[in-house]
Amino acid sequence: MNDIKLALLGSPGAGKSAVLVRFLTRRFIGEYASNSNSLYHKRLSIDGRQLNLEVFDPCSQSSEVQCILQEPLLWADGFVVVYNISDRASFINANNILMQIREARMDNCKGEVEVPVVLVGNKQDLCHVRQVLEDEGLCLAQEYHCHFQEVSAAESYQDIANLFTQLIRQVMEH
Ligand code: GDP
Repeated sequence: MNDIKLALLGSPGAGKSAVLVRFLTRRFIGEYASNSNSLYHKRLSIDGRQLNLEVFDPCSQSSEVQCILQEPLLWADGFVVVYNISDRASFINANNILMQIREARMDNCKGEVEVPVVLVGNKQDLCHVRQVLEDEGLCLAQEYHCHFQEVSAAESYQDIANLFTQLIRQVMEH
């Protein structure tokens, strides 16, 4: 059995918990009140391999980047960095988080980040009030050599399932 540890990072309100709950339960939970760090467990099978998935969803009480605990930065095998496409500040914060991951997990010998990351632009259903273009998300992801996906936790399960599956595959290949 493989153990895989993922961490979800992003601004408060970006939809981290909604994205995770959508993946774990296929359902959209409109209001998800949590004022503590949460660790979710799920057993799943990908490509015929049984996996023990642990996902860390930090508490969203502070908008400061400092609220990101140092531990998940070092603990996780892979990261999901979430921003809200209708909130530019959350996109700027996603950039800061990607920088922090790079600083914490840079393999100096190879000159590259030694952990898979996916950048997620959530709330695609709010594209009529969009503040961040899809191309901007793509450019940011290219800068950090990570995958990028726009999703709507409110409306769709499949995109979210695909991004987690792809990230888990990358972790397994790592
Ligand atoms: P977190 O603080 O990053 O964990 O964010 P939450 O998951 O608690 O979501 C914050 C708010 O955004 C809640 O009111 C959710 O219902 C809402 N939300 C989350 N995802 C979406 C989405 O895809 N579309 C829309 N319209 N609202 C969303």
